[in-house]
Amino acid sequence: MIADTRLPDNPITYVNPAFEKITGYSAAEVLGHNCRFLQGDTTQSEALEELRSALIEGRECNVLLKNYRRDGQIFWNNLYVAPIHDVNHTLTHFIGAQNDITDLVNTETALRESERRLDSILSSVEAVIWSIDAQTGRTLYLNPAGEAVYGRTLEEFYRDPTLWLETIHPEDRGRVSIERELLRKSERLDLEYRIIRPSGDVRWLYSRCSPIKNEQGVIVRFDCIDTDITDIKEAEEQLRHNAFYDKLTSLPNRSLFIDRLNHTIQRSKRRGGFMFAVLFLDLDGFKVVNDSLGHLAGDLLLVQIARRLEQCLRPSDTLARLGGDEFTILLEDIFQLQDATKVVNRVLSALQTPFEIFDRDVFTNVSIGIALGSGRQLLDVLSQSSESIGYYTQPSDVLRDADIAMYRAKKSGKGCYCVFDREMHADAVARLQLETDLRLAIEAEQLQVFYQPIVALGSGKIVGFEALVRWQHPDRGFISPAEFIPIAEETGDIIKIGSWVLERSCQQLQDWKEMFRDFLDLEPLTVAVNLSAKQLAQSDLLPDIDRILATTKLQPRSLKLEITESAIVENPATAVRILQALHERAITLCIDDFGTGYSSLSYLHRFPMDVLKVDRSFVTDIDTGEKNQEIVNAIIQLAHHLNMETIAEGIETEAERAVLEQFNCDFGQGYWFSHPVDGASATELLRQQVGMTTAEQLAKCERS
Ligand code: C2E
Ligand code: MG
Ligand code: MG
Repeated sequence: MIADTRLPDNPITYVNPAFEKITGYSAAEVLGHNCRFLQGDTTQSEALEELRSALIEGRECNVLLKNYRRDGQIFWNNLYVAPIHDVNHTLTHFIGAQNDITDLVNTETALRESERRLDSILSSVEAVIWSIDAQTGRTLYLNPAGEAVYGRTLEEFYRDPTLWLETIHPEDRGRVSIERELLRKSERLDLEYRIIRPSGDVRWLYSRCSPIKNEQGVIVRFDCIDTDITDIKEAEEQLRHNAFYDKLTSLPNRSLFIDRLNHTIQRSKRRGGFMFAVLFLDLDGFKVVNDSLGHLAGDLLLVQIARRLEQCLRPSDTLARLGGDEFTILLEDIFQLQDATKVVNRVLSALQTPFEIFDRDVFTNVSIGIALGSGRQLLDVLSQSSESIGYYTQPSDVLRDADIAMYRAKKSGKGCYCVFDREMHADAVARLQLETDLRLAIEAEQLQVFYQPIVALGSGKIVGFEALVRWQHPDRGFISPAEFIPIAEETGDIIKIGSWVLERSCQQLQDWKEMFRDFLDLEPLTVAVNLSAKQLAQSDLLPDIDRILATTKLQPRSLKLEITESAIVENPATAVRILQALHERAITLCIDDFGTGYSSLSYLHRFPMDVLKVDRSFVTDIDTGEKNQEIVNAIIQLAHHLNMETIAEGIETEAERAVLEQFNCDFGQGYWFSHPVDGASATELLRQQVGMTTAEQLAKCERS
């Protein structure tokens, strides 16, 4: 295109065919016109300004113009304009060479748009994105997240190629640089390492790097993405901690203790069988603290105990909380039993000082069982202690033996310790056998209910019976309830046994009532059934009693339940609720073995008790012992004052009976009147009392 500058408005004087093709205008249409028709409505732009001033100044210029074709479509015109002078150096024309670079412009725009988008994405992601020169280690690119994660400015990284390695935790640095070198030979590298921020904060990063090669296959740079995984690491750590540590006291838990004990056994096995000890600690009366002061107080106490126990140990010993109020201590590398008992004595005396819980002084003690062991069979140990050193291969066996010894310590009194020996093991095995046998005893019909008469001390008449369970073991013969009831309480079998005794006794009494229907003075006859602490805590005790009364058709007032003070003290909150509900059903409630436990009448007054049974220990020899006389007299008077009837247990002589009658004790029970006897013998006792002949009784039975 050529424009004549000598004519007004610089008209076009020539266009070539390429002009016609690009613009869509024919030469005829444009010759004689100024070329501004290509600009459309655009009158102001930087490029136009530049063009105008070049034309005025008569110099060449190169501008990019947004122009319009004849059909209105935009095209990008890369226009080069040069002045043409005549021989006198006068400007006569401008020659313009225009190039349609629309495609190029569009591509560039799209590219810029895509770059902007990428930049915005890279700026907004939390992950750090790096590009590092493979030769020099210089940072080629680093997104803004780098600043947030590393706590350093991007400039610092661009300036200093070694800074990145310096930020890595010294413990991880060596490993990271070695692995980084390996990246040159691999496709990808995944790394986890810690960095230290200038503030001292330590963060965990997960880094994924890939080597990028040029067309010749030479690695030119490394592209990496770093993610801050500190939160994940902390959560993982927490999970690991939870799995091996007790939440409340932060002490190792059972799993970790067993793990450490296992290592100790293995080490002892390898290293000539050195001796170790496990102490099993169980708090005395922890339940009372929990029940009286609340669980929060119980928790506080456990934490304080944990801290105090720690102070009794060497750093190499392991103290763990197994659960509840049970703690264990592992002592390694000890030489004699005394090394363990020294620790035990330290523990026992450390617990002498009370704990302060919610401004109260709380005293607690522990019972401790000790199991001494070795990972190898020891032959030449001192004869005095060889009995007690066990050869162990399993941690659970050591724990079991320490537990057995603890149990023995607990039995011999509070705040005691006991060392496990082989005899105890035999006892424990026997006990386990007994537990198993007991479980089957009901089904095997080895249990029986015996009845011991309760007699009115004035008239000497039977007013009721106490039901007492009996166990005829096929091998061991008769086993006393004093032996097996505590076991049944521990295993929970007492629930089943208790319910069975209750049903049997209610049925028996109802049968007697039918049998002796015509003898009016038997109407108030009652049966007293013992209720254990476990039963009192059992949730379906009330429905079970209701069911038994309904099926046997026994009047609730004919049933007495005997409960010991300790059963009530064990769980006063539940006890008061259950006892109240029983009382509302008109069932008579007796306090059993009074005088052997808590022995507080005022305390008992809070419970709806109707009858007090004076324990046998006060009754024995009451006719000769003045002290017992005073006590029993006072108990009977107080009980009467509280509207309770009294029964003296274990009367064995007429003299004892006479003293008790003189003290106005209402009823009595004991060998003097009758031993506990089976159902048939008890029937006979009743028959004698009413003077009924056996024939009459049989006839009665047949009728009913
Ligand atoms: P307890 O409830 O105090 O029962 C009285 C115990 O004293 C019975 O012992 C009885 O045989 C014994 N006894 C009665 N009179 C005399 C006497 O004059 N002299 C002597 N030395 N002893 C006398 P037993 O039957 O061996 O029962 C012991 C304990 O076992 C009972 O004490 C009771 O606590 C428990 N028990 C028995 N049967 C059951 C039961 O069915 N359920 C529950 N939970 N406990 C039971
Ligand atoms: Mg009893
Ligand atoms: Mg008793």
